[in-house]
Amino acid sequence: MSSKVCLLGDFAVGKTSLVRRFVYDLFDDKYISTIGVKVSRKTVAVPQADRVVELSLILWDLAGGEKFDPIQATYMRGAAGAVLVCDVTRAETLDRLNAYVSDLQQVSPAAVFVLAANKSDLEPWEVSKEQVEAFAASIGATCFFTSAKTGDQVEALFRELGRELVEKLNGEKTNGSAS
Ligand code: GDP
Ligand code: MG
Repeated sequence: MSSKVCLLGDFAVGKTSLVRRFVYDLFDDKYISTIGVKVSRKTVAVPQADRVVELSLILWDLAGGEKFDPIQATYMRGAAGAVLVCDVTRAETLDRLNAYVSDLQQVSPAAVFVLAANKSDLEPWEVSKEQVEAFAASIGATCFFTSAKTGDQVEALFRELGRELVEKLNGEKTNGSAS
């Protein structure tokens, strides 16, 4: 089984770094702006009551930036899930996530998402833990305070997304719905 997952969030919040940490267990302080779309794959093992399901996450990481419109239907089309990413040191990156959620829901209404409040290793934060949690609750997403730099909570984030995607796939099978 495999699921397409989009990384969504403003410029320089750490989308590429989170994928890099998760897939290669690496981090780079140098800023390398993503050009176009990079697709990586990593399998997560999701324990079920009676077995372990291997789910291959197909991670789509889009270029951020002002010139290239990140809200592209082609990028989001067919996404079963998304990782919403904000930077805890820049409050506006949290505010902006609403726009990404509604764009994704237009293209892929059944997509599940998790929220990465990234750069948790830095000080000071411009958002509180409570603010992030309240926003996550309002969109029905589980949130994680991640650091692509230290690796903190990065595995947990993608594992939770994997778990939710498998649950969704199981639900589709038993309901016979193809949402
Ligand atoms: P993107 O534009 O969302 O893909 O962001 P990048 O992954 O390219 O990261 C932007 C910048 O933030 C880079 O200089 C990264 O090294 C840095 N960065 C990303 N994640 C973290 C993090 O968790 N902690 C710290 N301290 N820096 C980070
Ligand atoms: Mg990037």
